[in-house]
Amino acid sequence: MHFRYDPDAWRPEIPGAPSRQQASTGKLEPGDLVVFQRKPYRVVEVRERAHANWPDVYRDAWVKQGMPDADTWYCRPRVVVLRSEEDPTAKTLNLQGPNDHYWHTLPEHYPICRLCKEIPPCAHVHNERIMDRATEKMAEDMAILPGSCHACKEPITKRQKSFTFPGANLIRPDLGDASAVFHTRSKCFDAIKAYDRRWGKAEEGRTQFFYCEGTQTQHHDDSLECSNPACTAVGDREDLVEHKLWVRHHPRMREAKGCWCLAGVLF
Ligand SMILES: [Zn+2]
Ligand SMILES: [Zn+2]
Ligand SMILES: [Zn+2]
Ligand SMILES: [Zn+2]
Repeated sequence: MHFRYDPDAWRPEIPGAPSRQQASTGKLEPGDLVVFQRKPYRVVEVRERAHANWPDVYRDAWVKQGMPDADTWYCRPRVVVLRSEEDPTAKTLNLQGPNDHYWHTLPEHYPICRLCKEIPPCAHVHNERIMDRATEKMAEDMAILPGSCHACKEPITKRQKSFTFPGANLIRPDLGDASAVFHTRSKCFDAIKAYDRRWGKAEEGRTQFFYCEGTQTQHHDDSLECSNPACTAVGDREDLVEHKLWVRHHPRMREAKGCWCLAGVLF
């Protein structure tokens, strides 16, 4: 699984506290302070849900994962009872969520906005920041010159390797079709992968250039083979395509024993 840092995601800003104070549902204790919908709540209790009462989405996910022990399954549904810290007389909230959900936790001394009663940054401040970032990003994108790398914005020299995506340009539509070009060097490669994901979703039936659903095998002689006949890891892209699964055949790997690449190798 890939976790990407999302600069637009909301996180509480508590002076003097570490920037990321979080706990999974399974780690919450009665009395803990958590954030729910940007407001502070006190954990009253965390309960298990009887297996028979699991909602379908959980049951389906559990079956998909091969039905591990339901009582200890990391993603099982839990009931979290919360009491508003700012209005303790209000009715408690009974929430249901996965055991592995992460909550922002708060220290006893937390700031709160006098007007919106929210943990800072309150919604309007946070939204303004997102807008500012989007404006800034747009100004940066508009500075890309035709034929320049859409990641580092530098011109692409004849000696540098690059990749041009076909179809509409998703960053600068005004530059025309087949104009989104990137260096393939490591500095610009994260941007290629991000664009590739967008490109794949932009039209029905597209196959990404830099991601393959197959299993790639690296044989003992370093040649590569993929289980997917439509694999895009060919030619210049052979080393650049990320695979869902990757295995390397090595004499120490017993399962690879029958492969041609290890014929004659002693186990
Ligand atoms: Zn506010
Ligand atoms: Zn570049
Ligand atoms: Zn092999
Ligand atoms: Zn492949």
